[in-house]
Amino acid sequence: MINTDQKFKGQTVIVTGSSSGIGRACAVYFGQLGANVVVNYSANKDAAQEVLEEIKSGGGTGIIVKADVSREEEVQAMFSQTISTYGRLDILVSNAGLQQDSSFLEMTLQQWQKVIDVNLTGQFLCTREAARQFVAQQKAAEQQEESDHSELAIGKIILMSSVHDIIPWAGHVNYAASKGGIMMLMKSISQELAPHKIRVNSVSPGAIKTTINKEVWSDPEKYKDLLHLIPYKRIGTPQDVAKAVAWLASDDSDYVNGETLYIDGGMTLYPEFADNG
Ligand code: NAD
Repeated sequence: MINTDQKFKGQTVIVTGSSSGIGRACAVYFGQLGANVVVNYSANKDAAQEVLEEIKSGGGTGIIVKADVSREEEVQAMFSQTISTYGRLDILVSNAGLQQDSSFLEMTLQQWQKVIDVNLTGQFLCTREAARQFVAQQKAAEQQEESDHSELAIGKIILMSSVHDIIPWAGHVNYAASKGGIMMLMKSISQELAPHKIRVNSVSPGAIKTTINKEVWSDPEKYKDLLHLIPYKRIGTPQDVAKAVAWLASDDSDYVNGETLYIDGGMTLYPEFADNG
């Protein structure tokens, strides 16, 4: 992806879980668009370093920060490090997530809890910290009369949801419940934060080619079955999602608030009904 438009120059973005997949594509794209990028990882430092090098080789800037998004003190330390490095935050892409699949009958409390902790509580912790930072920045600017009284948002939050915030998913109830929870988390905080000029939206990808679903796209039979669910007849790429995330973080979408943008090649159109029913 080559882009010389520096529309995020001077802005700082945290992308959680950006050492791989969709988060990585977002981090690299924001780097190309001029932002200071905080590449968050929880385990794979080498992969995070590689992402940072890719950002820098494209002329961008950034840092890597280790934090498990489900742990409050680590999330707070990540935000502190961001502010001590760049002085401010403008965008949060709350992307980190995982699956621990099991039939409902066999699902353990540990499998349920782990997915809820990372996918839902992690989003709560990161979005709350971002909102606190945006409000504090705005207050400081007002006290110093530096506020430019712009009509535009002073902070942008994008939550990574999934088509499974509305499509039920047998065998993955912990994941679907976490993503359904993200939808109401997003809408409720959006309602609460809009008066502070903070915009909060979600993106809900369909099938995107990353390690999370490698088992499906690397098997020709399973891939063929998957395409039955996608009217657009191709799997999505992490870059498809990154471009939508960047739009939601930009002033071009300034009047978009509390929305979920499905990036799914039409998966949520119930394609089984195209020639049935
Ligand atoms: P991925 O496995 O490549 O990325 C997930 C990232 O989250 C990894 O970098 C992982 O290290 C990180 N992570 C996991 N637990 C963490 C924790 N406790 N703290 C910090 N980081 C943690 O897969 P992906 O497909 O890029 O997934 C990214 C997001 O997109 C997830 O929220 C996922 O649910 C969502 N999503 C993916 C798809 C898809 O088809 N790939 C579809 C819908 C939604």
